[in-house]
Amino acid sequence: MAEQFYQDAYQTRLATRVLLHDDAGLVLEDTLCYPLGGGQPGDCATLTLADGGALRVVDTRRDRESRAILHQTEGRLRLAPGAEVTLELDWERRYRHMRIHTCLHLLSVVLPFGVTGGNLSAESGRLDFDVPEDVALDKDDIETRLNQLIARDLPVAIRMSSGEALKAQPELIKTMSVTPPLHLPEIRLVEVEGVDLQPCGGTHVARTGEIGQVQVRKIENKGARNKRVVIALA
Ligand SMILES: [Zn+2]
Repeated sequence: MAEQFYQDAYQTRLATRVLLHDDAGLVLEDTLCYPLGGGQPGDCATLTLADGGALRVVDTRRDRESRAILHQTEGRLRLAPGAEVTLELDWERRYRHMRIHTCLHLLSVVLPFGVTGGNLSAESGRLDFDVPEDVALDKDDIETRLNQLIARDLPVAIRMSSGEALKAQPELIKTMSVTPPLHLPEIRLVEVEGVDLQPCGGTHVARTGEIGQVQVRKIENKGARNKRVVIALA
């Protein structure tokens, strides 16, 4: 299966075929739908069928064993293998995920601490940081610095690396809770030009200016050293 969202996060429409459709989900030859992972929600989409009918994809997940991308469809209709469909991504929602996700990379630049968790929706995103107890976080200062990085309209690019190369640059791994799959020959790195480079499998905007203005909603204490910073699109 070609997972087109890795090549081009901006593609919204794709003609493809059904490989399998059962109660576990719908598997397509190719897809644009990002599966839930790395704190980013699974995509929604509409499939147009050969007879003109439509089928909604309400969530997308990756099967843990087969690694296939399973589209969760609405209702009881099951499509036959080989059936031709046109997939139209729920772009408005996905684009918000891309903007917030990219903003979380910038947040990890503004706050250079270990990341212990993270999550995002179409409205907001958060990262949890391992912050020494004597360091105070200033909400307004974080917001200003985030918006400055956004306003620089920095290019965001994908670079491929290997697990071996990454092992030699452990400083690139900011997540303390999840280690990237270092055994793989190819690992995807996301670079925000001049400010950040880290392994990531999510979807991002092409330039930071696309994120638009953001707000720091709140900073919460989640344990002695753990601070949760919540951001939202303004
Ligand atoms: Zn990312």
